[in-house]
Amino acid sequence: MGYRLSYPEADELFRKLSAEYEIYAPKLFEKQGRYSDTDIVRYDRVKRAEEIVWDRKSDFSAKEVVSPITQTIFYFTEDEYRESRTGAKKLLIFLRPCDINAFEHQDKIYLENGGIADVFYQRVRDRVRFVLMECTEGWDTCFCVSMGANRTNDYSAAVRRDENGLLFTVPDPELAPHFAGNREEPFEVRFIEQNDFTVEIPEIPNKDVLNKLKKHPMWQEFNDRCISCGSCTVACSTCTCFTTVDKIYDENAHAGERRRVAASCQVAGFDCMAGGHEFRTTPADRMRYRVLHKVHDYKARFGDFHMCVGCGRCSARCPKFISFPATINKMAAAIKEIVAAERQ
Ligand code: SF4
Ligand code: SF4
Repeated sequence: MGYRLSYPEADELFRKLSAEYEIYAPKLFEKQGRYSDTDIVRYDRVKRAEEIVWDRKSDFSAKEVVSPITQTIFYFTEDEYRESRTGAKKLLIFLRPCDINAFEHQDKIYLENGGIADVFYQRVRDRVRFVLMECTEGWDTCFCVSMGANRTNDYSAAVRRDENGLLFTVPDPELAPHFAGNREEPFEVRFIEQNDFTVEIPEIPNKDVLNKLKKHPMWQEFNDRCISCGSCTVACSTCTCFTTVDKIYDENAHAGERRRVAASCQVAGFDCMAGGHEFRTTPADRMRYRVLHKVHDYKARFGDFHMCVGCGRCSARCPKFISFPATINKMAAAIKEIVAAERQ
């Protein structure tokens, strides 16, 4: 059973929930887009249901609520430091199935990888509850169905928007009492079953094929196309890499704050080691690394799913119109070519 709420009723619900929760959702920022006079949709706090953008995919993902692009992790003086503080309220995030699945990958990297949980991620993540935004149509850059990320059961509530307002179902007993008393109406969540674009998920049968794929000429086109700007990774709902910088307050170089900021494997110098050695010096090297990480290496390490959830934000943000799903399909074709050549 679900609950039917008009927009004024939803606003009243949001008002009551705000005593216990901060509500985050995709929100429109007018004239703040990449080009002049263009808008952008990104995650931010909302106070009213009508602030939520439904008819456009957010340009940036919900990951920014939990792991912002820049974040102060601690403050320091000569001989002591203090960890940055965080809020106490729970966070209610409105997001689509692919983005909930993306959090599963974020959790693996931040909380499980290496056996040590990242405290700055965990202290926020523990307070998060998901509100699934029903998504049955998708957009032209989506390929979540191919990646198996179009469905999820991991939500405290789910919501459908239609011409009569909002329809919620609330499986989480912690959240359900807030909805009691609203008009009841049957609601079963639907998921998208087909995207405009289908991706052939490549299977790399052995290490020999993997090594040949790394040297395949398909990667060379990116030396001419990719400008190594890193826009794709900033927008990606599953990218987690960061670096740290110290912000010194004044001439006393011993007082300041340490921030962590998003880093990108697509940007030159990302893998620079002590002594100046770099492993991936060309855009082609870096693209190969990213694509293999998203649709091979992560799964090889963790053994369940590919890291990419098919949200398509990387393709949508790329200023050089490089399509990630088309690149995966090219990689699948290259693997077939290598395997066929080995059989001859
Ligand atoms: S690689 Fe592209 S499509 Fe895949 S999760 Fe990242 S942004 Fe989404
Ligand atoms: S957004 Fe496009 S041009 Fe920029 S680094 Fe990514 S693939 Fe290259």
